[in-house]
Amino acid sequence: MRKTVLNLEESRIREVANAGMGRSDVLAFWFGESDEVTPDFIRQAAIDSLQRGETFYSHNLGLPELREAVAAYMSGLHGAVGADRIAITSGGVNALMLAMQALIDPGDEVVAVTPVWPNLTAQPQIMSARLRCVSLQPRDGAWALDLPALLAAITPATRVLVVNSPNNPTGWTLSRAEQQAILDHCRQTGTWILADEVYERLYFDGPCAPSFLDLAAPDERLVVVHSFSKSFLMTGWRLGWLVMPPAMTHHMGKLIEFNTSCASVFTQRAGLVALERTAEVTPRVVAHLKTCRDTLVPLLQAIPGVVVAPAPGGMYAFFRLAGFDDSLATAKRLVLEAGLGLAPGEAFAPQAQGWLRWCFASRDPGRLVQGVERLNTWLAGRSGA
Ligand code: PMP
Repeated sequence: MRKTVLNLEESRIREVANAGMGRSDVLAFWFGESDEVTPDFIRQAAIDSLQRGETFYSHNLGLPELREAVAAYMSGLHGAVGADRIAITSGGVNALMLAMQALIDPGDEVVAVTPVWPNLTAQPQIMSARLRCVSLQPRDGAWALDLPALLAAITPATRVLVVNSPNNPTGWTLSRAEQQAILDHCRQTGTWILADEVYERLYFDGPCAPSFLDLAAPDERLVVVHSFSKSFLMTGWRLGWLVMPPAMTHHMGKLIEFNTSCASVFTQRAGLVALERTAEVTPRVVAHLKTCRDTLVPLLQAIPGVVVAPAPGGMYAFFRLAGFDDSLATAKRLVLEAGLGLAPGEAFAPQAQGWLRWCFASRDPGRLVQGVERLNTWLAGRSGA
């Protein structure tokens, strides 16, 4: 087996989750998904498709009508985006991997902004890239970009910049001005921007987070990754898409052929209905997430020793607990001793050691309150010990 693969680290989020497997008394907030099932009418579209016998391969790039619908949806948010720039993928993570396969040769330098969902740094390693990470900096619980440091790290030797905004796990979101500065700089250095914008609609300061698509021309070195998972409550469906320069799309079709050949047709039919009826899903999901955030964050802030700030986007509270500097050990103890399932910060970057990620996408915000009670009880027990 390749050394690269042997050396890949297992997900430390899974490591904590495995510690709590089979324990129904654990309140789990470790994974990045809502506990709400996909809306009925979206599920029905998949059932209808199967009933019609749509059990065959589709075009590598996806059903033409879905590509058109995605292009219309993207155009509504970001100005004209042609269907010739869209490829349907088997989830956002597949879209990311395809983009990496399209852009990275062995030995190429990739710069990634961290902390970030570990897949975004593992994938360049799988492609045998030389990975350089530029860390966001925490200030009073909120993480911020040191823009000059990032720009200094991106040189003509940098093939790809990988950036996820709104960010998992910190919620940090690029401002329009920062995006413009990064784009201008990458134009100079000839660097591709691989923008993971899967959380763009889960944004609390407006209908959509700032996107590189708002700024770049269609033929510029920009690939944007999207997913049905978050905005449409469709994590298990494995459906996403890519937006890329028109000249790249044909080649992406070849890569899709060799990876998955296509996304399943009944899933694509469900995606089509999700896009047609976005107004019935996404605004409600986002409003509810805001309620969840505004329930959880003040309760965490009230705990002595907790440092946390409300994130402008995403579905996570990322917080530090004073005196608990080993986040993996703390997360495991919280599972076993408090019945509380969180993700360890060190899974996302060494700089996030000592931090914990709490996914607040809970249908019942009362679960969040209960979780905080468990954390408080556990902390009280420890200080008394
Ligand atoms: N990017 C980020 C930053 C994510 O957090 C996730 C899901 N955790 C994805 C991409 C991929 O989502 P999916 O494969 O479910 O579409």
